[in-house]
Amino acid sequence: MYSNIVDFIKQTYQKDKVILHEPTFIGNEKKYVNECIDTTFVSSVGKFVDKFEDLTAEYTGAKKAIVCVNGTNALYLALLLVGVKQGDEIITQPLTFIATANSISYCNANPIFIDVDKETMGLSPKKLNEFLSKNTEIKNNACYNLKTRKKIAACVPMHTFGHPAKIDEIIDICNKYKIEVVEDAAESMGSTYKGKHTGTFGKLGILSFNGNKTITTGGGGMILTNDEELGKFAKHLTTQSKVPHPWEFNHDNIGYNYRMPNINAALGCAQIEKLDFFIEKKRLLATKYKEFFKNTSLQFFSEPENSFSNYWLNVVLLENREKRNEFLEFTNKNGVMTRPAWTLMNKLPMFQHCQTENIENAQWFEDRLVNIPSSVII
Ligand SMILES: *Cc1c(COP(=O)(O)O)cnc(C)c1O
Repeated sequence: MYSNIVDFIKQTYQKDKVILHEPTFIGNEKKYVNECIDTTFVSSVGKFVDKFEDLTAEYTGAKKAIVCVNGTNALYLALLLVGVKQGDEIITQPLTFIATANSISYCNANPIFIDVDKETMGLSPKKLNEFLSKNTEIKNNACYNLKTRKKIAACVPMHTFGHPAKIDEIIDICNKYKIEVVEDAAESMGSTYKGKHTGTFGKLGILSFNGNKTITTGGGGMILTNDEELGKFAKHLTTQSKVPHPWEFNHDNIGYNYRMPNINAALGCAQIEKLDFFIEKKRLLATKYKEFFKNTSLQFFSEPENSFSNYWLNVVLLENREKRNEFLEFTNKNGVMTRPAWTLMNKLPMFQHCQTENIENAQWFEDRLVNIPSSVII
């Protein structure tokens, strides 16, 4: 029944077996990594660390970019940096990868799950505003949940599968309610909203360079911010909070060993040189998919208004959960790797107790959404 789709994808990739997303190494990767080995600078010191931060800051337009060993701990640190404390509450969306919710847990904070928008798959400003206006009060310049009496310290919208959320509206609402915004832009390297890079709207934003993301450092992450002081402090925390000195070991905070090694940053420098090329190819693939799926019962998800998407993972929507399961079954059996949306966070045992508002859109996506192969085709 879905054999024309399987054939189309295999033909497009000119392969008999197509996986969901694999990295592309066609630039200076080997050269830069070899340079690390030849100079012995493979670890926490070396020029590629600074260079990768500079290139990322330049690419995204963020004033500061701070490398981390992965996106999950970049997000955890970003939450600490906006002042999240034990017992606080943090608003996020139920349709996200587990890393978003886990980072909140590392702070000993609790997530509140608010629905996503149908047009973006990201946090819905309308639902956010409804929730805040009905359920919170402002006291001492902070937002408190009337039900739990806890402080709502932060909001973490996520740019789902690379498609930008309505981030300007989200920021406006959060400003009104004295809530800090930390953007989970792990999936949206290269995606912009109204011409501005995702992850640079909130107080802080984070990127991921995991192996399956648009560009990779093997494993890695980045904190983005326009606040120079906060950026400097972020760097300090990722490097064991060591007070600079030619030989003394002094530390003025509980710090972390979260800095990305030079050898991974070398990979990052080579990858970011190719980022625009990757995005051009990924957008071309999305255009082909869009055209093809017009003549099928599946609906292709296109970038929302005012957005330029990296189309990290392409999305199709089936008619219902039963059809979704049939499609997953057929494609995976026949050499085309596809994956469903993540199980909604509020259904997982660790988060079942968390406050969850009406999440009909997230549920709608969970029932229908399938990611189809999205690697760069050269
Ligand atoms: C990939 C990802 C992260 C970070 O993941 P790491 O593997 O730790 O780099 C965070 N949030 C979302 C939504 C992601 O997709």
